[in-house]
Amino acid sequence: MKSTSELVREAFTELYPGKSFPYQVTVKYSRKFGSYNANVKLSGHDLRFGLSREWKGVDADIVIGLLQALLIKLLGGKKTKRVELYHIFLKKVHQVVPKVHTDPVLSESFHRVNQEYFNDNMEEPNLKWSTDATRKLGHYAYGSDTILISSIFKDAPVELLDYIMYHELLHKKLKFDHKEERTIHHSREFREAERKYANFERMDAEISRFIAQKRRRRWRLLPW
Ligand SMILES: [Zn+2]
Repeated sequence: MKSTSELVREAFTELYPGKSFPYQVTVKYSRKFGSYNANVKLSGHDLRFGLSREWKGVDADIVIGLLQALLIKLLGGKKTKRVELYHIFLKKVHQVVPKVHTDPVLSESFHRVNQEYFNDNMEEPNLKWSTDATRKLGHYAYGSDTILISSIFKDAPVELLDYIMYHELLHKKLKFDHKEERTIHHSREFREAERKYANFERMDAEISRFIAQKRRRRWRLLPW
C-alpha cells in the first residue's frame, strides 16, 4: 500500500504535469476533525495535510481526489476525474456515517420540518448545537452528515429554529455543484427551494431582527 505522502505526489503530478514538486509533505490523521473532514496548509515549502481518521480506510483514488481538491483550493488548477470521484463519495457518505449525535429540541424541529416540507422523506442527520454564533447560524457538514445550529436559537421562537433547520436540510438534500474551481452551495435551485418556505420574507426579516437583538444584548453585557 502507498503511503499518503506518496499519494500527495501522485495527486500533484496528475494535476500539474511537468511541474517540479518543491514541498516537504507532512500528513497527519487526527481525531480532532469531524468525520471525513480534511485541510491543507502551506508555509514556505512545508505542505501540511490534516485528515480525519476515517480517510485511512478509503480507496486510494478517492483519497487522491480529496488531496487534489485541497491542492486546487491552495494552488488553483482544473479538477480531475478523481476529484469528481471524491465529490461523488462526499455526496453519498451520509448513507454510511453513524448517527450518534442528537438533541430533543433539534430532533423535534427536524421532524416538524421533514413532515411539512419533505414529505417525511429525509433521513435524520446528526444534530448538534454549535456555539452561540450570530454570524454562522447553521451549517451542514457533508462528511459527518451533521446539522449544526447556533445556540442562540435555544431560546428563540421555534418557527425561527425551524426556518434555519429547513435551510440546512436543503443543503443535505441538494448537496453542492461545481463550476470550474468553485463549489456552489447556494445554487439557483437552492434559492428557489428556499423561497418555498411559508412566509419566507417575513421569516428572513424576523431572523435578522432576532440576531440584531442578540448582538445588542451582548454589547450591553460588556463590562465597560
Ligand atoms: Zn447555506
